[in-house]
Amino acid sequence: MRNKQQELLDLYDTLKSLSDPSLSDLSVNLVPGEGNVDSQVVFVGEAPGRDEDKQGRPFVGSAGRFLNDALEKAGLQRSDVYITNVVKRRPPRNRPPRKAEVALFLPYLLHELEIIRPKLICLLGATAIRALLNQPLSEVRGQIVESEGWRFYCMYHPAAVIYDPGVERIFFEDIAKIRKLIDAGLSS
Ligand code: URA
Repeated sequence: MRNKQQELLDLYDTLKSLSDPSLSDLSVNLVPGEGNVDSQVVFVGEAPGRDEDKQGRPFVGSAGRFLNDALEKAGLQRSDVYITNVVKRRPPRNRPPRKAEVALFLPYLLHELEIIRPKLICLLGATAIRALLNQPLSEVRGQIVESEGWRFYCMYHPAAVIYDPGVERIFFEDIAKIRKLIDAGLSS
């Protein structure tokens, strides 16, 4: 069997040449997922921002630093998990990705998840939750949702917490819950 790393590289190669008129607004740089390809836990964000676009890595700007700190506070390391985005090229001025952009990238995200085969997929924010579950964040935040054979955990996006410190406690509780699920062997 081909190894996961190679399969992911092939997938990102395919994505590099993905061209469609609906993607013309996006930055040209592709920001692939990164992390432990054998992790049982994957975090899925919305789309790269300016720092991610520059560095070609997901979650390396302020939202990423916030996420890293939250993981560390819960005794988790970023290097233990895999982190990716629904849309892998930066929308202009950090606007949310459009429906057509999400629709074009979604099959590749699903393929990425098939390669990694995590036991838990943590959806960061409304775009990821809408893309994978077609639900609003307000309905499912803090919940485990099973769908299409996957198990999702729905939570705020770290950038939303930076803008609204009022939801910080909830975000940390969600990360602590994920830690508990990992400690329980992701079976409950
Ligand atoms: N926000 C995201 O959704 N993804 C990133 O990679 C960075 C910020």
